[in-house]
Parts: sequence; C-alpha cells; structure tokens
Amino acid sequence: MGNQLASVILSGVRRTYASSGGDVHAVNDVDLEVADGEFIVLMGTSGSGKTTLLNLIGGLDRASAGRLEVLGEDLAGLSEARLARLRMISIGFVFQELNLLPELTLQENVALPLEGSGVTRAEARRRADEALVRVGLSGLGPRFPDEVSGGQQQRAAIARAVVGERRLMLADEPTGALDSATGAQVMKTLRDLCDSGVTAIVSTHNPANAEYADRVVRMQDGRIVEITAGSSFTSGQSA
Ligand code: ADP
Ligand code: MG
Repeated sequence: MGNQLASVILSGVRRTYASSGGDVHAVNDVDLEVADGEFIVLMGTSGSGKTTLLNLIGGLDRASAGRLEVLGEDLAGLSEARLARLRMISIGFVFQELNLLPELTLQENVALPLEGSGVTRAEARRRADEALVRVGLSGLGPRFPDEVSGGQQQRAAIARAVVGERRLMLADEPTGALDSATGAQVMKTLRDLCDSGVTAIVSTHNPANAEYADRVVRMQDGRIVEITAGSSFTSGQSA
C-alpha cells in the first residue's frame, strides 16, 4: 500500500460552507503534493483556510470537491470506519491547545493511540518510551502533564502523534500557545522528526517558523497563493 514518493496528493480540493451571505470556500481549488519525509509549513492569516485544509487531509472533514490521496488511500472512497482506522494507525494530530489527558502520565498519553491496534500493554509502553526519547523527553514518562512545562507537554503531544508506525503528522498552530523560545524548541523537534522520515504539515502564523520548513505554503482566502523553499530546503537539516 502507499506511494513511496508522495504522502499526500491534493488536486482541486475544495471545502464549501453555506452561509447567509452565500457560499464560503474555506478551501478553494487546492493542488498540493507532499513528499514522504517533507516538512511543510502552512502560513496564512486567520481565516485563510489552514485548519480546514489540515482537517481535510486528516480525514476529520470531507471535501466538497476534488481528490485527496493520503498515504496511498483515496479518502473519498473510505468509509467512516476505514477513515477512523487510517487516522488511528497512520496519522497524528497536534493542536494549539495542550491537549493531553490530565489524569494520565505522559507515557500513558503517548501509548493511547496504540490501544486497540492489537499491541500488548507492555509493548505499547515500550513504544511510548521510544517516542518520548525521540522528542527529547527521555525519563519523563511517569510524570503527569501538570508536572512538566508547556513546551514539554507539547513535545509529548508530538510523541503521541508519531508513536508506533505513524508517519504523517498534522499540527495546527502547535506553537500558538507557547512563548517564542519554547515554540522554537517545538519546531526544532518537528524538524528532527522529519529528518528521521516523518512527514509533517504544520500551520502557523509566525513567519519565524518558516526557517524549519522544506517548503512554505502560503494560503489566502482558501487558496494557495505562493509556495517557496524554506530555509531547511537546501541542507535538508537544521543546524
Ligand atoms: P484558519 O485556520 O486559517 O484561521 P479556517 O480554516 O479556520 O482558517 O477558516 C477558513 C474560512 O472558513 C473562514 O472564513 C472561516 O470563517 C470559514 N469556516 C471554517 N469553518 C467553518 C464552519 N464550520 N462553518 C462555516 N464557515 C467556516
Ligand atoms: Mg486555524
């Protein structure tokens, strides 16, 4: 299954909402191909369509028109159950709000997506610890979310997004609730994961975050208006 070269292929994708003032095209005729292991930063002002586009790619919302191919699957052809399974097994989400479950430890939070995927509890914990190491939180698994900093909570959410076999991460303003130094650490963590093979599409309205991207996709009024190479494009590595 899947295409080795492209994780995500969008063509003519549109999401239309009916409103009293007429139809609103939250996402309007978007074409985009994202390579395996690529780090895309989605830039655009509030209301430009970033969240809607991420929700379409992640199968949380259905397109009004166009074609979305994600990890080799044509999303329009999937039942809700198959879509839910694709999300659980292969796609991780990170949001602006620090949304770990407060009554679970970091390790338990990160292991959560593996439950119901057939691995034993011990194996799930082992993979959770592995994911925590990948985001620089080695040893913090037993802590509860309120016992670590906001940046560490967000990195744990990133670990949850990439735990096990998951290799597509969709992050919606993951640095929006963080100060700039902590936000930079989170972007660096995302960059390092992409260098190890994860594909990431990350929305932000902070222009400083372009530095970490392979490509910066700028949206306006639901359309892609510009695609430029990010600073990481030539080296493929961050310093
Ligand atoms: P961004 O994440 O870039 O701020 P959004 O994707 O949230 O942008 O929104 C894009 C446009 O779609 C905005 O004009 C917004 O008002 C509209 N929109 C988003 N969700 C809905 C909805 N559920 N119903 C109606 N309009 C919506
Ligand atoms: Mg948004």
